[in-house]
Amino acid sequence: MRLPYAPRPITGEGLSSWAARLAAHNYVDLPAFWAWLGIDPIDDLQPSPSTVEKLAEVGGVATAAIADLCIPQARRSSWMTASDAEGRRGGACPVCCREAAARGFDHWWPAQSQMVLWVSCPIHRCALVDLDGLAFVSTGGVLALARQGGAALGAARTARVLDERTLALESALARALAGLAIGAGWRVRSGRHLLQASEILINLVLYKEFGQTPFAWLFEPERIGGPFILSLHASDPIQGLDALHGRSARSRRNVLSALATLLSRPARLEGEVTEVLSWRTAPDHQGPYRTLLDHVGSEGRRRLEAALQHLPDAIALPAAAALADEAGGGLHKPLAFRGDYERDL
Ligand SMILES: [Zn+2]
Repeated sequence: MRLPYAPRPITGEGLSSWAARLAAHNYVDLPAFWAWLGIDPIDDLQPSPSTVEKLAEVGGVATAAIADLCIPQARRSSWMTASDAEGRRGGACPVCCREAAARGFDHWWPAQSQMVLWVSCPIHRCALVDLDGLAFVSTGGVLALARQGGAALGAARTARVLDERTLALESALARALAGLAIGAGWRVRSGRHLLQASEILINLVLYKEFGQTPFAWLFEPERIGGPFILSLHASDPIQGLDALHGRSARSRRNVLSALATLLSRPARLEGEVTEVLSWRTAPDHQGPYRTLLDHVGSEGRRRLEAALQHLPDAIALPAAAALADEAGGGLHKPLAFRGDYERDL
């Protein structure tokens, strides 16, 4: 059965975004929509063939058009964000939403935002806004994402710009997940090593002992505290990528920036980041790892030591050097590990 009104997918839109628009245009919420279709909440990356067929039928589009809404590179469920209480998954770009509204289209959100470490608009590269707290409001038959009793997303002409290093890692991780080359500028050469190191280092950049701030929060531009600051404690059973599922784009953005700093070649660490890392001279080979150690406490150091054997050498060596340096009373040994990048040979 065809829905009474079914807008076509927008180029670059996520499956969860299109499904949410289908439901809203037909005056049901997403859980009621799933129930009506007789399907489970959508897996945005790999919807089952029967889900795709059902959506194609009720939405009046070809099944291939639905496959286009799922980004192939992220087909690892551990890298997919959790859906929110309303069954939506992802984050919206205020500029895309404003532009869509100006052309008479619905607000929407991009397919890439379904990846746990994708936090920018793929078109405008500004920060994505969490869907949490936003709901579709219909005005003249067009849907806008708005806060309760507030203005629609994009009404204020503001969007947060993200730094280049963070955006570069975001793209490199997506390329790595797709099995593509990750490009230059990283301590590691292969996509496999980039993914492996990222998953391990998440635990350390978020690690917090009493009285300390996680390393990831050095990268928070607003620097305000509070209980919403994501951190991992020694007793937390959830680790790695799992710790980021269902977390705010802000938390995930800070983790991405922290990882980008640890994974970048030192020569790429210039400007503002040297201040974040408290460097007096830049680039410092072990620099980011020294700052990381300052933030993890004794149990965090033990965890880093235990993780060394699982990290690619190009990451384990500067981390080990920073640990050894500290154990030796802070003696600087900058020349010890000069050759520890992965190279094309
Ligand atoms: Zn955008």
